Amino acid sequence: MVKHHFNTETVHLSEKRLGSFTSKVNPIYQTSAFAFGDLEELEGYYQGNGAYLYTRVGNPNTDDLALAVANLEGAPTGVATSSGLSAILAGILAVTKTGDHIVATNDTYGGTYHMLENELKDFGIEVSFVSFENQEEIRESIKANTKLLYSESITNPLLRVEDLEELTKIAKEYNIITMIDNTFATPFLCQPYLKGIDLVVHSATKYIGGHSDVTAGVLVGQQDLIAKARAKIVNLGLNLSPFEAWLGTRGIKTLSVRMERHVNNAQFLADQLKSHPGVCKVYYPDFVSEKGNGPIVTIDVIGKCDVQKFFKSLSWIKIVPTLAGVETTVSYPAATSHRALSKELRDELGITEGVVRISVGIEDPEDILAAFLNALDQSIL
Ligand SMILES: *Cc1c(COP(=O)(O)O)cnc(C)c1O
Repeated sequence: MVKHHFNTETVHLSEKRLGSFTSKVNPIYQTSAFAFGDLEELEGYYQGNGAYLYTRVGNPNTDDLALAVANLEGAPTGVATSSGLSAILAGILAVTKTGDHIVATNDTYGGTYHMLENELKDFGIEVSFVSFENQEEIRESIKANTKLLYSESITNPLLRVEDLEELTKIAKEYNIITMIDNTFATPFLCQPYLKGIDLVVHSATKYIGGHSDVTAGVLVGQQDLIAKARAKIVNLGLNLSPFEAWLGTRGIKTLSVRMERHVNNAQFLADQLKSHPGVCKVYYPDFVSEKGNGPIVTIDVIGKCDVQKFFKSLSWIKIVPTLAGVETTVSYPAATSHRALSKELRDELGITEGVVRISVGIEDPEDILAAFLNALDQSIL
């Protein structure tokens, strides 16, 4: 390469070693745009030769993450976004517009509820929240302008397991698109797309990333729907950064081993806590898959324990308003994820002031159990 003056060299030095290594792991394309040698190459991009143009429009790292999740879900393609919520938004805007109607389960993740209830209204998109436990309620709330049925494979925080076959059946009858948030189950336990669900969404912030160091989302489905979602992501700027995508992709490599430990530990904890006098209810699914029943255990200690004292007595277990890290953590839905809900709705759903959601980590199960038994014994009324 030609040697230039100092000021020019400082600007161009980093480009000199570009593309000359065979790294074992895909590099991070931490670049906002891609360069073209001539106009033919540029034209090639628009002819769909697989090149990249501008990171908001597409980037190898964000595609790596999206296609990895699509692959695990058994779906043809996918797209990555800046967060779980932006993936949900992109999916919704791919199938609805002003004047349309969505039927959603009333026990969604709090942030999703907030978006559907408060933000979509401003777009002129109407949402009916009903109990998806009752299929008649779903059918009764479908209208001529209903475009989407929205639910979660395992709901948060009370861990109801959605009947995906039934949902698909109803949607086909009325010619409606279905969308499932598969964040809690992950494709390790559940693959909604293979059960006929049209769009599957993840907060990759959780088990896909797995280490509480990424905020990201992924939406997977058929080519045509994902193309529509991708247009929303590009035009509304919901894209993911290359570095976060790279971390998410790295997380997937250990998804199976993490999930196996998470679900085994969760099953053990759920079984053990059932008989404790400080616990009035343990929420844990009876059956999700042959591989296990989920990584989260929710308990209700209302009336049995002093909740303040319980949280104070958890020793090494931290109170964290998220889930899915390798460390066991607890959250308090009434004050965090479901704060946006009215107290009436929370009570109706069973999210009392005694509900504690446990994100069971990958530590030794005996240590996890001992920490909870200690906190229950300390705080029992
Ligand atoms: C965390 C979460 C979301 C939102 O994801 P973000 O990455 O925080 O935007 C959506 N659904 C479920 C089930 C979640 O747990």
